[in-house]
Amino acid sequence: MPKNKTHYEDCDILVVGGGMAGTGATFEARHWGRDLKIVCVEKANIDRSGAVAQGLYAINCYMGMQWNENQPEDHVRYARNDLMGLVREDLGYDMARHVDSTVHMFDEWGLPMMKNPKTGRYQREGKWQIMIHGESYKPIVAEAAKKSADKIYNRIMITHLLMDENNENRVGGAVGFNMRTGDFHVFRSKTVIVAAGGASHIFKPRSVGEGMGRTWYAPWSNGSAYALPIAAGAKMTQMENRIVLCRFKDGYGPVGAYFLHLKTYTQNANGENYEKKWYDQTKKLVGEYIDHHPTPTCLRNHAFVQEVMAGGGPIHMVTKEAFQDPHLETVGWENFLGMTVGQAVVWASQNIDPKYTNPELTTSEPYVMGSHATCSGAWVSGPEDISPPEYFWGYNRMMTVEGLFGAGDTVGGSAHKFSSGSFTEGRLAAKAAVKYIEDQKAKNIKVGKDQCENFRKIIYKPLENYTVGRNEITGGTVSPSYILPIQGLQRLQKIMDEYVGGISVNYMTNENLLKKGLDLLKWLEEDLEHVGAEDYHQLMRAWELKHRALTSQCVTEHTLFRKETRWPGYYYRGDHLKLDDENWHCLTVSRRDPKTGKFTMEKMPVYHIIGDEEKKKAS
Ligand SMILES: Cc1cc2nc3c(=O)[nH]c(=O)nc-3n(C[C@H](O)[C@H](O)[C@H](O)COP(=O)(O)OP(=O)(O)OC[C@H]3O[C@@H](n4cnc5c(N)ncnc54)[C@H](O)[C@@H]3O)c2cc1C
Repeated sequence: MPKNKTHYEDCDILVVGGGMAGTGATFEARHWGRDLKIVCVEKANIDRSGAVAQGLYAINCYMGMQWNENQPEDHVRYARNDLMGLVREDLGYDMARHVDSTVHMFDEWGLPMMKNPKTGRYQREGKWQIMIHGESYKPIVAEAAKKSADKIYNRIMITHLLMDENNENRVGGAVGFNMRTGDFHVFRSKTVIVAAGGASHIFKPRSVGEGMGRTWYAPWSNGSAYALPIAAGAKMTQMENRIVLCRFKDGYGPVGAYFLHLKTYTQNANGENYEKKWYDQTKKLVGEYIDHHPTPTCLRNHAFVQEVMAGGGPIHMVTKEAFQDPHLETVGWENFLGMTVGQAVVWASQNIDPKYTNPELTTSEPYVMGSHATCSGAWVSGPEDISPPEYFWGYNRMMTVEGLFGAGDTVGGSAHKFSSGSFTEGRLAAKAAVKYIEDQKAKNIKVGKDQCENFRKIIYKPLENYTVGRNEITGGTVSPSYILPIQGLQRLQKIMDEYVGGISVNYMTNENLLKKGLDLLKWLEEDLEHVGAEDYHQLMRAWELKHRALTSQCVTEHTLFRKETRWPGYYYRGDHLKLDDENWHCLTVSRRDPKTGKFTMEKMPVYHIIGDEEKKKAS
């Protein structure tokens, strides 16, 4: 057992993850909780952490209510449509009605916003997106959090939540270790806000071997946001709703600015508009959803996937026309230089100048996240003024574990929050957490030394596995006594890819495959008791892997439960290929029993709180 120091920190609000939602939570907690002790713990360094680490070129969620550009109701309709009808409208509405104030603060804090020279308003990229010079987006929001927190801990990975020994369904803090010093950290806290991002690399990625690590979603997003609450017995929702993205090939560069601002378009290898070709086939699968405007993201993916399977690939983005305009050409390059430098580098390495060559597109491996065009995550309470009883249990964004809150990718059911909406949701969660404390709900929490010591043993076990087993290495890195994190990761990705609907099976799965996948994930779970870590960095990898594996179990259970194909283009249930509104126009909710490890599943109603535009006009 290594002789690492133990540090105890007692606080009122503990924010796990200092990305967009975590910085928002930390900032807002101070506003409402002047005298409270607020601590934010981040695995990396909050100046450059999370999905926004490299910067962004657009804020994808801004209503523009001051100019009557959009109203929160419009955004709910938009998200509902894109998610094929299934969202938590209370959460979406709540985020949308507050998001503009967040963006206005970003502006005040010095984030360079592009302005429309004619109107003086923020420069729109699309209906919801506004354009920014966003290379320094993350350091700017991090500064607000740093000024608000009592303490920011960087380089500490949170591995487990602590539970109250007086009430087994109440949180008591969290534990983790410092990846540089190896020290053990115990945070006893009255409330915990989990804001630890989504999950990449649970499915086998397209880029393997020399390209490993290249991915659309941040490679360091390892599903802690889900694994921490799942392990504590919190309910999760819509975990089957993984996202697949159409992106520039090999560099995974985003296409939003290209479609929306540069007005580029896609075509197949023969120069045809292939999307139209798949209309009738898609209509048979999903009915009238294919006639909705805008076409839901998954259905556009569906046409892409079908076209490639039918031999019509590669699919190209037609850039040659737009890039003849020097202004658009500049925007096209800047879009990547401020956000996804890797795409520009990949093009350079492949001799692609989009002015003369139309670059290829591809569909990504699936990711799990709650803030993009998808809504996997924790089942949380909504706001008191609009949430129906099934969606409300006292404190906004509180999970089904008392005192445990979530925001951003952590929270399920509320898609299309993006960076600004995630920060906003962090603010909402923090405000509610302060109220929870003020209402005296966090009294008499007991977290004893034994609980902490037990976690300490568990956390460092991979180091011990390695130290004991390394003398038995039979060749290279092969040991009969342990597996390395990278070996475990590749095994996990293979299981998820082949059985749960990844790229190598064109996103197809079925009941038999899912059941087999669950079996294999169980075996993996057992073997991960023997994961070996040679240093603290590998210890982090070991824990990232364990969090990914638990998240994957939950994704697989949900995918098995929903017996329909709700989002063709994200994944297909080969045994239930059609959308089935009669039986599955509902949200799926799971809970893993922390004692037995068994998942139970239930259906929850989808309430359409916001009326349709047509009905609104008619009334
Ligand atoms: C490639 C890409 C492009 C995007 N483009 C745009 C865009 O153009 N415009 C836009 O508005 N939005 C965009 N988004 C969406 C936006 O980035 C997310 O909505 C937002 O970052 C989600 O916030 P979050 O706080 O939930 O997660 P993140 O911002 O990812 O933050 C999670 C944080 O938790 C930390 N963490 C993880 N695990 C642990 C742990 N165990 N212990 C401690 N800390 C931990 C991570 O290091 C990270 O800092 C994009 C996202 C991606 C992935």
